[in-house]
Amino acid sequence: VENPAVDWGQALASIESAVNPHIGSGKVADYIPALARVDPNKFGLAVALDGGEMHALGDADESFSMQSISKIFTLALTLKQIGDDLWERVGQEPSGSPFNSIVQLEVEQGIPRNPLINAGAIATTDSLVSAYGGGEAGADKAIADLLQLFRRLSQDDSIAIDLNVARSESDTGSRNRALGHFMASFGNMTNPVEAALSAYFRHCSLAISCRQLARAALFLAFDGTDPETGEQIITKRRCRGILAVMMSSGHYDNSGEFAYRIGLPGKSGVGGGILAVAPDQGTIAVWSPGLNQAGTSMVGSLALGELVKQTGWSVFG
Ligand code: GLU
Repeated sequence: VENPAVDWGQALASIESAVNPHIGSGKVADYIPALARVDPNKFGLAVALDGGEMHALGDADESFSMQSISKIFTLALTLKQIGDDLWERVGQEPSGSPFNSIVQLEVEQGIPRNPLINAGAIATTDSLVSAYGGGEAGADKAIADLLQLFRRLSQDDSIAIDLNVARSESDTGSRNRALGHFMASFGNMTNPVEAALSAYFRHCSLAISCRQLARAALFLAFDGTDPETGEQIITKRRCRGILAVMMSSGHYDNSGEFAYRIGLPGKSGVGGGILAVAPDQGTIAVWSPGLNQAGTSMVGSLALGELVKQTGWSVFG
């Protein structure tokens, strides 16, 4: 399909005027101090396109806590390491439940519904830790490799894990621990729960800017291959699979509404970031800390609504 060229100057100006009256709305995540003290008036957006072209707005160079958006990269690396075996212990169905829900886990015998709810991401991380030898040492190696992947993809060696956030995640992680132990009771954990969680808390605590995130995710828009360097990160088939899971489950119990309104696969994080992917076009990273009920950035979601209106981007033709 031929796409008319986007007038980025005009598109960014329209996004800015669409979001301006709403900056600061929503509720900033307050379960840990490092997130609670983030300025609710922040807003940044970056669009990465084939060939290194980049368009940005607002606080696009300021780092924020990646939180659940990291689950996409963990999933990609896990599929690369262990392949489709992952799907024996994690499903591909939308949950219709909040991010940390435990109820379905009992009904479904310890198999989480998808890799993007917390239980599914913890199980995925557990598989990744095993792929790196298991235990705390495996967790350290998995995180080191994930960090290296991020730095390479975003072409920025300064990207780091905020260990203060990771510690707070662990200190307040009772629910995630419960999910891990509940899955373990069904035999669906291969490492000590604490080893899997130490990796999970750390990948959620990556600090990244919109510009870095959009750049790092670009392989997802181009069938698993970084369009600038030519490096194949994952196969085309798995890339499409990840996008399908993002489309159906990227926003917890808000996934259907997001798919209807935005029409692009996306993933939210409670740090206020959203990553969206327009296949064959590019990636969009947006950040604004105020969240809706489902933990998706309110202003970020508004910005994406205006962006798809301006660009005509949609996976539905
Ligand atoms: N680290 C958060 C948790 O596990 C991630 C939640 C999110 O970003 O949606 O509670």
